[in-house]
Amino acid sequence: QREKLQKPDWLRIKLATDGNFAEIKEMMRGKTLHSVCEEARCPNIYECWANRTATFMILGDICTRACRFCAVKTGLPTELDLQEPDRVAEAAEQMGLQHCVVTSVARDDLADGGASIFAATIQAIRKRMPFCRVEVLIPDFMGNKDALQIVMDANPDILNHNIETVERLSDRVRAKAKYRRSLELLKQAKAMKPKIPTKSSIMLGVGEQYEEILQAMDDLRAVDCNILTLGQYLQPTPNHLAIERYVHPDEFAKLKEEGLKRGFRHVESGPLVRSSYHAHEQTDSAIAA
Ligand code: SF4
Ligand code: SF4
Repeated sequence: QREKLQKPDWLRIKLATDGNFAEIKEMMRGKTLHSVCEEARCPNIYECWANRTATFMILGDICTRACRFCAVKTGLPTELDLQEPDRVAEAAEQMGLQHCVVTSVARDDLADGGASIFAATIQAIRKRMPFCRVEVLIPDFMGNKDALQIVMDANPDILNHNIETVERLSDRVRAKAKYRRSLELLKQAKAMKPKIPTKSSIMLGVGEQYEEILQAMDDLRAVDCNILTLGQYLQPTPNHLAIERYVHPDEFAKLKEEGLKRGFRHVESGPLVRSSYHAHEQTDSAIAA
């Protein structure tokens, strides 16, 4: 029987609402859009939305995979909504976004894994808001290089794909994905468009050793990944993967140094960091470098 870990103080946060918040939520419902900010109950939602950053989840809310850390529903998706790209662009405009992150469930049921909808979403946002940066956080498309090419040809400002954890734990944490396949995707993206910064994320606290995190950083740098985010894993429900430990903020700070030493242009590292946290600033330093 595992002893229940006490949530440390640094993860207890005070939520401050602002006036726009309810209005934005309402607008999302009206457009039948899904945001990761809301659905993952992200602790940074007030700060991010106030800073004009949000993460949309396209291609429905049912995923063909069932990663053990993730709260998204699993099943056979039915949705393929060709109007979705336009609605995302409209919502981004109404929210006055400066940095829009577009991600999706894994759609292993579709021949291109949903890549063409990603591309259409990038184009729709560009058309309405030429100055809004568009970051895509893509699934691995089962290693389908043609699908990746479709996304890269739409020229996102940032190509993000998460390895999520260290190599040894990859099978346990996200069974249908593969650590090496994810690295290969990042490598191919860079080969296709060398100027587009690539980014990846590792969640900590699922049983990884310190040396393994450093190794994962080396693996990412070996494929010239430019931006790294490190955050604490939080268990969405008791049925999900257990938290092995709470990583101390000092360790996050140390890891940030290690990442910068290895040549990442930007490392965002802290207990509440999520892939899209401070995404705007991450991009600024990646592009300036
Ligand atoms: Fe949304 Fe990402 Fe910010 Fe969380 S960190 S609120 S998911 S943009
Ligand atoms: Fe969640 Fe993505 Fe895994 Fe689907 S593929 S279960 S959305 S982490």
